[in-house]
Amino acid sequence: MHGAQGNRERPAAEVILLGTGAALPTAERDNTALVVVGPETVLLVDCPGAAYAKLLRAGVDPQRLTHVLLTHVHTDHSAGLPGLLQSLWLGGRTAPLPILGLPDVQALVDGALATFRPFGDRSPFALPRQVLPLVASTAPVLETADFRVWTTPGDHSVPSVAVRVEAKAGGAVVYSSDTRPCATVRELARGATLLVHEATFLGHDAELAARHAHSTGAQAARLAQEAGVRRLALVHFTPRAAGELARLREEAAAEFGGEVIAPSDLARFTV
Ligand SMILES: [Zn+2]
Ligand SMILES: [Zn+2]
Repeated sequence: MHGAQGNRERPAAEVILLGTGAALPTAERDNTALVVVGPETVLLVDCPGAAYAKLLRAGVDPQRLTHVLLTHVHTDHSAGLPGLLQSLWLGGRTAPLPILGLPDVQALVDGALATFRPFGDRSPFALPRQVLPLVASTAPVLETADFRVWTTPGDHSVPSVAVRVEAKAGGAVVYSSDTRPCATVRELARGATLLVHEATFLGHDAELAARHAHSTGAQAARLAQEAGVRRLALVHFTPRAAGELARLREEAAAEFGGEVIAPSDLARFTV
């Protein structure tokens, strides 16, 4: 599992953070979501509001999307899907767009389609559904020309998955989504080039983090250290006062020997 020996002829994957904030956004920092871009596969992971516009701002043609994976049903991770689908239709899409998610995510998508009817009476493109397992996947849940994708359950207030995307060129990015620090995510992250881990709270709010099923920056960093990842990007954090972002990064850097980043929206990484 997670073999990363490379076919070096294939270009690596690019990871773009479409948002880096928690559920409470600011002018600079919107809800966390990311897109993994390969030569042929473009995977959107989570879909808060205005995903179409954010892809454009990131320099990714939204019509290049090949898959959407929603990690859990919370609004800041899923509520933008009907708008994205409508925009894709208005933009001329006819290609199918598979949607990957846990059973309750698929039910949410059913409800959103029935309520918002983003295509009116039309069916401009197919939305094949792939139900993700409630346990760690023992085989890739998705394999394309560019990537192998694995998921594992996190430890959140609703069922949620963490996602590992291995580029066939050799690198791997792991995204925790919302979770307490947990062993399943640590195993999924093992040896990753880049771990994008949620860090909703600073260290002095560790009790709040546990109660609300989130992590602190230091907890994310300890997990990154144990998993032997190369770089750690802290996301799902909304600074409420000056200096908080620097403090988050410092608390994490004290626990992790590799590079710690507290990235801005639209930050890009090659893995
Ligand atoms: Zn969230
Ligand atoms: Zn959540």
